[in-house]
Amino acid sequence: MAYGDDAVTLSRDEIDALQVQALRETLERARRAPAYADRLSDISPNDIRGPEDVRRLPLTGKDDLRAGMPWGFLAAPRRDVVRMHYSSGTTGLATAVFHTRGDLERWAQCVARGMLAAGVTEDDVFQNMMGYGLFTGGLGFHYAGELIGCMTIPAGSGNTERQIHLMQGFGSSVLHIIPSYALRVLHVCEGEGIDPHADLSVRVIFVGGEPHSEQLRRRIEDGFGAKVYNCYGLSEMCGPGVAMECAQQHGLHVCEDHYLAEVLDPETLEPVPPGELGELVLTTLCREAMPLLRYRTRDIVHVIEGECPCGSRHARISRIEGRSDDMLVVRGVNVYPLQVERALLDFDEVGRNYVITLDRPADLDRMTVAVELAQAGFADEMRRLNALRERICRRLRSELDLGVEVELHEPGALPVSEGKAVRVIDRRNQET
Ligand SMILES: [Zn+2]
Repeated sequence: MAYGDDAVTLSRDEIDALQVQALRETLERARRAPAYADRLSDISPNDIRGPEDVRRLPLTGKDDLRAGMPWGFLAAPRRDVVRMHYSSGTTGLATAVFHTRGDLERWAQCVARGMLAAGVTEDDVFQNMMGYGLFTGGLGFHYAGELIGCMTIPAGSGNTERQIHLMQGFGSSVLHIIPSYALRVLHVCEGEGIDPHADLSVRVIFVGGEPHSEQLRRRIEDGFGAKVYNCYGLSEMCGPGVAMECAQQHGLHVCEDHYLAEVLDPETLEPVPPGELGELVLTTLCREAMPLLRYRTRDIVHVIEGECPCGSRHARISRIEGRSDDMLVVRGVNVYPLQVERALLDFDEVGRNYVITLDRPADLDRMTVAVELAQAGFADEMRRLNALRERICRRLRSELDLGVEVELHEPGALPVSEGKAVRVIDRRNQET
């Protein structure tokens, strides 16, 4: 029999009631973790009356997880733990995440919900092209594919020729892949003379693991002739499956029976008005081995308001729009460099390199965006360039709610940095 999911039809009131009950139980479980025991001594489950009472609970940061290594956040007996993952350590030491058997089952259900929403069935062949191992991308989707009943191919990442060989040989119809790797696969197809539209059967692609733009999604869709769906997650929660797009491809539905999501101003830690950008803060609602309260993801999103035409009443969030660590405050407005990048992607005339400079002449913040042109030779066409600069100014103003200066540069004129590009120069606190 086909796998189904009842929670996707819950009404908003039912979701709220379920969250309150689950929050109370989570509070009781979290107390058993040494790292939370003291911090929860003066709050009782009776203090939780609505989902908003989550704000009575303490925030948890990555530093807390590091300080609690290895067992500080474990709330279940060690014999009940059946798996451990390591969260990636891109900004410091990695931390351990523990799962009971029940945790793993619920994780698979979250991912399966998103796969079903995209139309995946037991007739599909699912090629999982994410890394298996301590990284959660591979195993997270693997068990969801099997739960639905897909023929699941644990291809892992890399060895692109073999990946394409598998797709051709077994008619893979569903992929899970990192977006930049999807472009690499298309590139190799082109080199091998394989036309993905004619020679492959891919119709649904789940992408995750790195931030990407809407433009990149369209390129992957056009390249494979398939629909591409965003998937959000982080190892500290479970991995992929915290929030996934439905067939509308407009916002990711949070699995609200598993996670309570808040969007907070990263500076004040107060909720932002609906629809405004803020940091996603997540509380696990069913986690047995390692309940986490109000975990600061550092990912910047906004809530998408209104009811989704798909019928699900689980709240929707945007794709990741930035990282709270990168946030700039300019004349009181929160600005994320990723917003600037997204606005510039609208212009074919500009290249991919840009630098934001902040200074404070006459005691007022000034933000200047230096933009490289895509092709040389424009320097003679001043009139056209002025018009382009005006359009970029207007686009940035509507994106940021902030007036900025824009400079245009010849290709290759802006400094190229090794590794992570330096996008922001803040001179505001320098003596001049
Ligand atoms: Zn929907």
